[in-house]
This record gives sequence, structure tokens and C-alpha cells, in this order.
Amino acid sequence: MTGSSSYSLIKSGKNHTIIVKALLYYRERMGTMEIEIIQGDITELKVDAIVNAANKSLLGGGGVDGAIHRAAGPELKEACRKLNGAETGEAKLTKGFNLPASYVIHTVGPVYRDGNHGEADKLKACYANSFKVANEHDLKTVAFPAISTGIYGYPLEEASKIAVDTVMEARNTATSVEKVMFVAFDDRTKGVLENQLAY
Ligand code: ADP
Repeated sequence: MTGSSSYSLIKSGKNHTIIVKALLYYRERMGTMEIEIIQGDITELKVDAIVNAANKSLLGGGGVDGAIHRAAGPELKEACRKLNGAETGEAKLTKGFNLPASYVIHTVGPVYRDGNHGEADKLKACYANSFKVANEHDLKTVAFPAISTGIYGYPLEEASKIAVDTVMEARNTATSVEKVMFVAFDDRTKGVLENQLAY
């Protein structure tokens, strides 16, 4: 849309003014999101939300889930209890309690079997739904761990491609999110994510 066409629409009525303002607002927010890969412990990040690779109970577990629950303190488990679990691919929000992050988005990654059981769609849903939750709560900075690539056994290259592609897609939509961080806990994950992002 050009400046002059939006001006003529603004002149032509109240409803059009609202539509034009909305379009300009979306255009401003599209494609400006920053993406960064960092190596470290996600529980130490002072961001609006960290994403937790949780299990369906949402009551804590091993890996990053255990680390997040330990760092957040017992109030996190109490808050999670009220969520009544989640299905694979879903995402639900709690506060961050003792974490430096304000919120935790709990999402349930797929357990990798052989790649023929909808694993890719479910992993994609984890990123997309986490993003949706972030947007619904007007969050600006969101950090993701490498969901499903630990205990749940998703091959790292494939999982990283899904992670990067899904976040890139979200980048082209209107969103409150200004910065996404992919958090690699080890060198290999960092390298694979960097390769993926370079494409
Ligand atoms: P999943 O069950 O979804 O596979 P895991 O927690 O086992 O989840 O592993 C997911 C990824 O999170 C792995 O790359 C693992 O090394 C990483 N990870 C584990 N602890 C942390 C942490 N404190 N911060 C960031 N990433 C972590």
C-alpha cells in the first residue's frame, strides 16, 4: 500500500481509517523480528518468556524441564497443576516465579519414533503454538530450547530445520515478538542451528 492510497482511504470514512491503521500497524510489525542463537542455560535468561520442553503432565521431568522447575521453585509446579496437562504440540503459559524470565511457555514435544507418526507436524505445532501464546500475551522476547532433541530423541538436524522454518514463518506474520533466541545447551546443537539459520 502506498502512502497516498492510505491517505485517500483515511479521508473516506471512519471504518476505513480503522482498517488502514490496522494495516499500517501490521506492516510495521512484520519482518522486523530478530533471531539469535545463543549457547547456555535457558534458566538464566532474563527474557519475557522461556519455552519449556515439557511432558504431557506439565508437572516437571528431566532435562530442560527439570532445570526450569528447579530454578523457578515449587510455585511453578503448583501453577502447572492448574493447567491439567497438555497434548503434544500444545502450549500453555505460567509465570516464571523465581526465574529471571517473566513467563514460561510449556509445550509438549513429540517423542520421536521413526518420523512416520506425525512427529514433524507436532514439533512444528510446538513452535507455532508457543509463538501464538507469546503473541496473545504481548510478549517481546522469547527463548526456545531445542525441543524434543534430548530425551525425546528427535534427530537434531531435522528438528533444527523445523524450529528455524517455523520461526521464520512466524516472522512474516504480525506479532508482538521482537526477538527469538534459540538456546543451544551444547556445541553440536549450536553448530546445527547456525547452519540451519544460514540457509
Ligand atoms: P525433550 O524431552 O523435549 O527431548 P530435553 O530436555 O531432554 O527435552 O532436551 C531438549 C534440549 O534441551 C536438549 O538439546 C538438551 O541438551 C537441552 N537442555 C537441557 N537442559 C537445558 C538447559 N538448562 N538450558 C537449555 N537447554 C537445555
